[in-house]
Amino acid sequence: MARVLYPGSFDPVTHGHLDIISRAAALFDTVVIGVYDAPPKHLLFTTDERTGMVEQAVKHLPNVEVKPYVGLTVEFARKVGAQALVRGLRMSSDFEREFEMAMMNKNLAPDIELVSLMASLEYQFLSSSLVKEVFSLGGYIDNLVPKHVSAAMKKKLRVVKEVGSLEKRSAQETLREREKLINESARESARKKG
Ligand code: ADP
Repeated sequence: MARVLYPGSFDPVTHGHLDIISRAAALFDTVVIGVYDAPPKHLLFTTDERTGMVEQAVKHLPNVEVKPYVGLTVEFARKVGAQALVRGLRMSSDFEREFEMAMMNKNLAPDIELVSLMASLEYQFLSSSLVKEVFSLGGYIDNLVPKHVSAAMKKKLRVVKEVGSLEKRSAQETLREREKLINESARESARKKG
């Protein structure tokens, strides 16, 4: 029974990830998708949100499971009984970093193999970070992510903007209050002097 782990941040899941997932699901008995809890990058979505979005995107694939994880990827691979890790490789950006990670993982867990699938031509230049950047600038991304993901992104952007404007408002109020206090104490000391 070949069981593999496809780990990543999936912030959010894109058609590029889904292409790798469906190709891996055709090759292996079971694909576990590991949604990494705390990658060293700025996240737009929480772990629960990222996991939920991946779950919804793969519900038509019976041999695919989705699980969030913390800590070392190879340890999680052992925990879920995976014999290999699956990674997607884009021509432009991934090779060096993936090679580095593969060597480190091999050092940590020589028994766990790595299977790299080349990104399909149409997804070579697709990344979650670019999707987020383009989207935050008002660009069209609906053909790059599943429908429920673009809906979640729209909702998230609204919340981010509202929180931003609330923070701005409260910062302005704090400044105004501080100015008021300074003026009052200046008036008070002028009264005392005079
Ligand atoms: P990123 O933030 O780089 O989009 P993740 O950490 O979510 O990526 O990626 C998980 C895995 O999916 C990695 O192996 C990454 O190289 C791969 N991947 C990401 N985007 C694509 C894509 N467009 N095509 C193929 N593989 C991809």
